[in-house]
Amino acid sequence: MSILIVGSLAFDDIETPFGSSFDTLGGSSTYIALSSSYFTDEVKLVGVVGSDFEDKHFDLLHSRNIDTKGIKKVEDGKTFRWAGRYHYDMNTRDTLDTQLNVFADFDPEVPLQYRDAKFVCLGNIDPELQLKVLDQINKPTLVICDTMNFWIEGKPEELKKTLERVDIFIINDSEARILSGDPNLVKSARIIRNMGPKTLIIKKGEHGALLFTDKGIFAAPAFPLESIFDPTGAGDTFAGGFIGHLARCESINDLEMRRAVLYGSAMASFCVEKFGTEKIASLDMLEIEDRYQSFRELSRIDE
Ligand code: AMP
Repeated sequence: MSILIVGSLAFDDIETPFGSSFDTLGGSSTYIALSSSYFTDEVKLVGVVGSDFEDKHFDLLHSRNIDTKGIKKVEDGKTFRWAGRYHYDMNTRDTLDTQLNVFADFDPEVPLQYRDAKFVCLGNIDPELQLKVLDQINKPTLVICDTMNFWIEGKPEELKKTLERVDIFIINDSEARILSGDPNLVKSARIIRNMGPKTLIIKKGEHGALLFTDKGIFAAPAFPLESIFDPTGAGDTFAGGFIGHLARCESINDLEMRRAVLYGSAMASFCVEKFGTEKIASLDMLEIEDRYQSFRELSRIDE
């Protein structure tokens, strides 16, 4: 099944307690696309970049079979830029800089051949743009959405309009608290699900993720890793693994949704092992299945 992804394509400056990297290829849709490309070869991107986005960046996406016809290159503009610094525990980070650049005037146009996509993943981007993209898709089976505090605080009403049309919403714990106005995550989940999305995933960094559906709550751990270098993009990589697994399923039910959470977690655990997209651009399916099995073992008890 094809997946259409819209989100940011970016150059990031990242500082962690273990090192820093500058002008690193990033952006929400880059991570989502790379991650989901292991599960389906029909990944299509819609986004915008500037003249500083070079052929080698496109080549990287093409090396994973990602369709980039929906990426607009603005020759007299600069690609979106973000800078962040992680604290010692790596769970918290400060955004040092956000430069929208070409995203400021972006009016997304979904290529005709993308409009029948069944799975739509609205990566972290201005919620008004997310909605504009959604308006151009014929009849999606599943709409998944991610966001971040920048938009929750900056464009709350626009985000709520988008959420009315979203099936699965992925958000982290601190963002869930801000959006719902409630410090308790279970109550937050109820409040947010009432805004539209039937299914909600709350990511909790190194403490795993919670899946809320009509059937109840499923808790997945995060993989206990000895080396965590850079958590940037882990959330988007999670979303990519999650939607990627669902896109290869014959039907979507609670069991597949739980499996998808574990695949998302497995992909995210790879992402943090190296800076930027380095690790998730060069995996193979055997490693992924292996990590998925390790995840299942993490909380299994043979009575
Ligand atoms: P994550 O660590 O999963 O939150 O994703 C980090 C990625 O999101 C980075 O590669 C950034 O380029 C991108 N990003 C950061 N802020 C924004 C924003 N306001 N809108 C869109 N993308 C962003």
